[in-house]
Amino acid sequence: MPLSSPGQPAPCRPLRIYMIAPRTPGSFWNMQGTLDAVGVKSLMPCIALSTLISLTPPDIPVVYHYCDENISAVDWDLPCDLVAISGFTLHADRIARLSRAFGARGIPVAIGGAFATLDTDLARPLADHLFVGEAEYTWPAFLKDFSAHRARPVYTQKSFVDINASPPPNWSFINGRDYLYMTVQTARGCPNRCDFCDAVRLIGNRHRRKPVDQVIIEVDNAYKAGCEVIFFSDDNFMVSRRYTETLLHRLIEWNAALPHPVQFSCQTDVRITDDEKLLRLMADARFAAVFLGIESLRRACLEEINKGHLHRPDLADRIRRMAHYGLLPFIGLIVGFDADDDDTFDEIENFLIDTGVPTVSISVLNAPEGTPLHQRLLSRNRIDDQFAGVWHFSTNIVPVKGSRRHLLQKHRRLFSRLYDPRHFEARTLHWLQQIRYFPSAYTQKRKAGTNILKIARIIRHYTFCVPAPVRRQFFSILRKTWQIDPRLIRKVITIMTQYCHYYTFVTADSYQEDRH
Ligand code: SF4
Repeated sequence: MPLSSPGQPAPCRPLRIYMIAPRTPGSFWNMQGTLDAVGVKSLMPCIALSTLISLTPPDIPVVYHYCDENISAVDWDLPCDLVAISGFTLHADRIARLSRAFGARGIPVAIGGAFATLDTDLARPLADHLFVGEAEYTWPAFLKDFSAHRARPVYTQKSFVDINASPPPNWSFINGRDYLYMTVQTARGCPNRCDFCDAVRLIGNRHRRKPVDQVIIEVDNAYKAGCEVIFFSDDNFMVSRRYTETLLHRLIEWNAALPHPVQFSCQTDVRITDDEKLLRLMADARFAAVFLGIESLRRACLEEINKGHLHRPDLADRIRRMAHYGLLPFIGLIVGFDADDDDTFDEIENFLIDTGVPTVSISVLNAPEGTPLHQRLLSRNRIDDQFAGVWHFSTNIVPVKGSRRHLLQKHRRLFSRLYDPRHFEARTLHWLQQIRYFPSAYTQKRKAGTNILKIARIIRHYTFCVPAPVRRQFFSILRKTWQIDPRLIRKVITIMTQYCHYYTFVTADSYQEDRH
């Protein structure tokens, strides 16, 4: 049977689609230092492509090939009818290269994901078929059109889809052991309207929840794919308290029955600390780290970005409460608000020392295009159009007082200081000393073999691959943690696994050099 030329699938054979997750550039968020230390290849797999595979209509025969560029190289000569790429805005350059290279080979390219939706003008010329918005309805429609040779150049999903139309992702093309985390999404939508946030353009404000039964199936699938940590990738894990509580009960039941229980992590806002019962349930389910988007300790700063209602004057007590239950808060803070000043940096440092929070991200406020913040500052001539930097290193906002250079220097100095080995050790030990609650369901469980291997790799990393002060700090923390309570060793190993990245990041030449 003769094969059709690329882009011209023959009617009597399946479509051949090459799914590509583009290579992720280095950043604070890709955890490269940790990946190198524990010997896994990438942070997490692309949930969007795996969901698209599940969305294939049964009457359209498709043979999928899959490449995550963070795991293996693209096969440029793979015979296929279509290349489908999904990525975030940080993948823009790589998506452009992939698209041009496959275009030059005469293979049509479909592009979707956050990049296509948020940067539509940039993405449109790169794609033969562009997917704007959620793809639960448009991908099956496209497959029908493509197999009938009548596919359109743009498929736009204007309204947000019914979340019940989103099936469990098909993970059969990936090996969970290649990744630090596997991802599960429980819901889409966040009712908050933070001025700087472009995520709500993707997910909307209405909270659309998957049935809890389906979430448990997805969690189970992620576990079967070979992972030990499951990250709930919702932009805000706790929107509906009742739903979260129901889900946590089911997760406890599921995890406690496993021979080798997994750990969970998620990202959410400060309301998760409103209720101690929820914190206890999270500990019982085996949540390890919780990313908390606090943004600022100052109410005036939060009011600038329409987040004043999430200011909590008793934040320090709330963070200590999380520590009581052994939940590691990864606090997300931002500097560079109009209401910030030089004292902001000392306030942040003192807060972290006082509460004993080891892990923190501090970004400089930016105004992504399409957000209310961008519109407001543009009307005041405070957006730098020439900005082409990286969010963690720079900002497109012209400060109301002081210079950008001064702001960025203060930011970089604080961030470097917080991840200095001695500072980090003091905060980590302080956090560990506050833990009082140890869920009983897992005490008799043994660790999986891969988990033990990762711990051995971490010890080898700190023994042979780091400067002497960091090595001393590692063994000092282990010894002191054992003296506090031997049950905390697993937690401190988790923290030190992350520290491999933070230390590497803040000491890299690319971070330390003065860019402005
Ligand atoms: S809480 Fe998070 S996801 Fe929700 S609008 Fe604010 S920044 Fe965006």
